Parts: sequence; structure tokens; C-alpha cells
Amino acid sequence: MGFRGVDFLGLDEELSSEERMVRDEVRRWVDDQVLPIIAHHFEAGTFPLHLVPQMAELNLLGANLDPKYGCAGLNNVAYGLIMQELERGDSGLRSFVSVQSSLVMWPIQEYGSEKQKQYWLPKMARGEAIGCFGLTEPDYGSNPAGLITRARKDGSSWVLNGTKMWITNGTIADVALVWAKDDEGVIRGFLVERGTPGFRQNKVTDKFSLRASDTGELVLEDVRIPEKNRLPEANGLKAALRCLTQARYGIAWGAIGAAMACYEVALEYAKNRVQFDRPIAGYQLVQQKLVYMLTEITKMQLLCLRLGRLKDRGKVNHVQVSMGKMNNVYHALQIARLARDILGANGIMYEYQVARHLCNLESVYTYEGTHDIHTLIIGEHITGLSAFT
Ligand SMILES: Cc1cc2nc3c(=O)[nH]c(=O)nc-3n(C[C@H](O)[C@H](O)[C@H](O)COP(=O)(O)OP(=O)(O)OC[C@H]3O[C@@H](n4cnc5c(N)ncnc54)[C@H](O)[C@@H]3O)c2cc1C
Repeated sequence: MGFRGVDFLGLDEELSSEERMVRDEVRRWVDDQVLPIIAHHFEAGTFPLHLVPQMAELNLLGANLDPKYGCAGLNNVAYGLIMQELERGDSGLRSFVSVQSSLVMWPIQEYGSEKQKQYWLPKMARGEAIGCFGLTEPDYGSNPAGLITRARKDGSSWVLNGTKMWITNGTIADVALVWAKDDEGVIRGFLVERGTPGFRQNKVTDKFSLRASDTGELVLEDVRIPEKNRLPEANGLKAALRCLTQARYGIAWGAIGAAMACYEVALEYAKNRVQFDRPIAGYQLVQQKLVYMLTEITKMQLLCLRLGRLKDRGKVNHVQVSMGKMNNVYHALQIARLARDILGANGIMYEYQVARHLCNLESVYTYEGTHDIHTLIIGEHITGLSAFT
């Protein structure tokens, strides 16, 4: 039997029939197509590229974007539930969709010219073009304002120089949204296409985490980009940070999926594993761990549902989204660690998933603003005092 979900408070009642339908369709697809193959990809360090056309067929790419450009136009709760179900499969799969949808398609819809929208969005929704988002550099992670990639205007084109690091979908991308500073120091967004002379996409290997996700380094050496490839409205760091708010919202939901997968495995295992003549689920210390897991998953669900409803009304702010990302990834990681513990030695095996989620979540904790950076964002909001520097 497939996954039945974790719903202690009966939150299903708060979802529309369309939201439930979308979630259940992705849930079945993850059970049928992802879970049987994902451990192999994790072990091999490869992204399951063959799943991209299937995800496109299910309308998962840019799912909350405008139907005018070939996207599904779902609300933000349905989009979040998609992220949850994908990450129940693997954080790498959810990362692929987050980047494609929230970090490349969303900025094209938000900041692009009509021509850019018409060219890229339907293609990306169909999975015929893959995108990546290049903000982080080897020396500028938490502090992207300092980035040193340069864009020099030269007649009707721009010349880009610099290096981007840790870029999800980096080597499989057909188009990279690269953030670079112009001569005045203004950060702007450029669409750099695969094969442009001087543009190299190198694979980052030897990772412990997100092994089924493609991670790359983007090298730009005198890469000449026509003005028509600049996103006309993407001016200033704020433009890049608004993309991150979109993606972080999806990550908060995704973390629920990873946590639910770990809880389900741990509960089943604890009920069946006998030590000292009793199932270990009967021991107080094990029950305490399982109860912590369920309680935190329930709180994560409430947080996300509220964020989603606010987002659909245009009322969510980036600080609230920071709380969702910070809280949900933190607890998902704790839950994955506890699940690994409950499974004893079996907890380190591919077969039981939990160590894969645990390793993946270590990256999710760091990317899209580290846990501590989100703490500082919320801290600044409530005190009026910035503790970044
Ligand atoms: C698998 C993976 C995929 C990624 N995908 C992408 C992508 O697609 N596109 C992209 O642009 N980037 C991507 N990133 C990069 C990611 O966003 C950065 O790693 C992240 O922002 C942190 O930057 P850093 O690694 O340079 O760490 P640093 O910024 O060096 O931080 C190191 C530590 O210092 C702490 N710290 C930093 N500043 C402060 C401060 N002011 N006060 C207190 N503590 C502080 C941090 O919280 C952290 O604990 C990815 C990263 C990973 C691991």
C-alpha cells in the first residue's frame, strides 16, 4: 500500500478538493516512479533526468505560474503540497523543481520582457529547457551583496566575468540566470544559454548530500550576452532576494515531506523491531521520540498552511517565509536524526531511506539562507537591530 500521509489534526479538511487531488496524484507518482529508483541515483551521484518529462506531464514545473505561458496556474497551497510530496521522495528532486519553478521561471515571469516570457516559460513548463540560478560565489554565500561577478556594457551587449558555485541543476541547465554587478555596482539578472562562448558548466562531485541532485560550478570568461538576454526588471539585490523568498516558501513545505517519510519508516520499524522480548515502540524513550516527530510535523503543517493561504492573498512577507524555512528544515533534520537512531544499524542502510533524507537535509539546512541567517532576519525584524555585521 502507498503512503497515507501524516495528518494528526485532520488538516485535510482545510484543503480544497483540487489541492487534495494534486497532492494525491504526486504522492502516487512518487511511490511508483521515484521511490523504486532514487536510492540507486543517490548512490551513483546522478540526477534522474528521465523523470523530467513525467514531471512536466504532471504540470509540476512552474505549477503556480501563469496559464497564459503554459503553466498550471495552481494556488500556492497546491504548489506547496507538490513540494512536500516530491521531497518525501528526495530533497534533490524537490530542489530540481524549486529551482526550475521558483528561481528561474518565476523571475522570468516577474522581471522578464514579454518576448522572454513567451519564449522560455512554455518551454520550461514542458521540461524542454532546464534552468539554474547562479547567485552564490566561492567567496560570497550568506552575503550575496558582495558578489564579484561583473557585467560590463559593451555596445548592445554585456560581457560577463566571474564564477558561480554550488549551483543546483548547474551542469544540466540549458539556461542559467546569472546575477552580476554592472559598472555602477547594480546587481542585474542575465539569461546565459548553454554553449555561449566562454561559459563553462562544471560538475561538483564527491558530495555526501543531495547526491541525486546536479550541483555545478558556472565559469564565465568574457561571455558576451545580448541585451535581449538581460531581465529588464531584475535590478538590485532585492530582485534576487525576492526569488529566494519564492523558493524558501517551497522548501518549508518540502521539509514536511522528508520528515513524514522518516516518521513513517521509524514508526513502522519500531512497532516491528523486538528487543528484550518487546517491540521497541513499547519503550518510553522510543515513544518520546515518535511523539516529538509527530508533534513537530503537525506544527510544520500548520505553519505552511497559514503561509500558503497568506501567500494566495498576497499577504505573506519574507520574514514569515524565513520562519517557515528555518523552523521546518531544523525539525525535519532532527526528525531524520531520530529516525536514523530508532532504526539502529539498519538506519544507515539505503533500503530504509532515513540516512538519505538525513544527509540531504544537511544541505537544505544550509542553502537558501542558512538556519542562522534566517534567525538573524527574524531577529532584525523583531528588534529593529541588525546583527549581521
Ligand atoms: C547542495 C547545494 C545546492 C545549492 N544550490 C544553489 C543554487 O542553486 N544557487 C545558488 O546561488 N546557491 C546555491 N547554493 C549555495 C547556498 O545558498 C550557500 O551555500 C549558502 O547561502 C551559504 O553560503 P556558504 O556556503 O558560502 O556559507 P557561509 O556564508 O560561509 O556560512 C558559513 C557559516 O557561517 C555562518 N554565518 C555567515 N554569516 C554570518 C553572520 N553574519 N552571522 C552569524 N553567522 C554567519 C552561516 O550561518 C554558516 O553557519 C547551494 C548550496 C548547496 C550546499
